[in-house]
Amino acid sequence: MNILIVGSGIVGLSTAFELALAGKKVTVVTRNYEEGASWVAGGMLAPLSEGLEGELLEFSLENLRLYPDYVSRIEEVSKIKVFFEKEGILRLGVDEEEMELIRKRAEVYSRMGLKVETLEKGDLRNIEPAISEKVEGGVLHHEEGNVDAEKLMDALLIGVGNLGVRIVVDEVVEVERRNSRVESVKGLKDRYSADFFVFATGSWSKSLLKLPVFPVKGQILKVKGPEPKKVCYSKASYIIPKEGFLLIGATSEEAGFDTRNNLKGVGTLIDGAVRVMPSLGEAELIDVKVGFRPATPDGKPVFEAGENFATLTGHHRNGILWAPISAKMVLDLIEKGVRSRYFDLFSPSRFEG
Ligand SMILES: Cc1cc2nc3c(=O)[nH]c(=O)nc-3n(C[C@H](O)[C@H](O)[C@H](O)COP(=O)(O)OP(=O)(O)OC[C@H]3O[C@@H](n4cnc5c(N)ncnc54)[C@H](O)[C@@H]3O)c2cc1C
Repeated sequence: MNILIVGSGIVGLSTAFELALAGKKVTVVTRNYEEGASWVAGGMLAPLSEGLEGELLEFSLENLRLYPDYVSRIEEVSKIKVFFEKEGILRLGVDEEEMELIRKRAEVYSRMGLKVETLEKGDLRNIEPAISEKVEGGVLHHEEGNVDAEKLMDALLIGVGNLGVRIVVDEVVEVERRNSRVESVKGLKDRYSADFFVFATGSWSKSLLKLPVFPVKGQILKVKGPEPKKVCYSKASYIIPKEGFLLIGATSEEAGFDTRNNLKGVGTLIDGAVRVMPSLGEAELIDVKVGFRPATPDGKPVFEAGENFATLTGHHRNGILWAPISAKMVLDLIEKGVRSRYFDLFSPSRFEG
């Protein structure tokens, strides 16, 4: 069976990886394999810190459970070690209002059986002594994790190469579709046919797939300096320790596809980080990266399964977290004929009318 995947972000490459590992012949067509939100992402696996609820939370927790195996499969095939830890994220309350909000959420999560620990000022500084005295407290979400998204993307690219996936650089400009069947896709350089098509075009899905997906720009800083032991997530900033560097994120701007950074965004991120962890004032700024989150009007992803195609887009703020199940849904559909219920829960039909 020949499978053609459009898009080489984490969603397209994870799908290519799982299908190729299962013995399928896969081609990825991408405009630019270094483009995409996936190379820029903070890599937090943080549905509780994000305050997700209902079906999005359920979907996220299922992804979290699959993450260790997903990463080890990719490491094994690529022979690249990916920084990944699942030791919890500190959700901070920088003022009383935020503390109140996270305390209430922690009660709900705790009633659901999730491992959450509310920390008053003193307890918090026992865990992270570098946190400012002004931070009110926090909640430790034990189940959450942190992955180096850039390293994971490197490993996926090498991994799919090792599995024989062909990567073609071309921009797809038209999907020739008859009802729920895709006949072929037309690129600027060639026309492509396949037995099954997967569309994973992130923020650029609107014009190609006629879906209400729009870009939310994010600027994020790469920094060298004092590192907290855990990810420190608050409304002021996210401070994300990796291996030998930190990420400080992230702005959220509706500014189209403007790839430039700006001092306003960078300044806000620096102020927010130093407010939470004053010693970061001495840190060295290494890079400012910009990416586009594929957002939807209701903040939920868009999954569609047709006769011979699947669409996986709209991953917005959580695409790194949601990659394992996105890929598995396509694998299960093709291998076992099993249609995941997430195709119905997150169907694009919700936007009709
Ligand atoms: C600053 C920032 C911080 C983030 N932090 C986190 C985080 O901490 N945790 C988390 O889980 N998520 C995070 N995200 C969100 C996450 O990065 C995205 O949800 C995810 O990367 C989306 O992956 P994707 O594969 O759908 O899209 P992308 O990675 O954007 O890839 C889309 C691909 O499609 C290709 N393409 C598009 N159109 C065409 C076409 N017509 N023809 C051919 N190819 C095409 C592009 O070239 C690209 O390769 C963050 C995002 C940003 C911007």
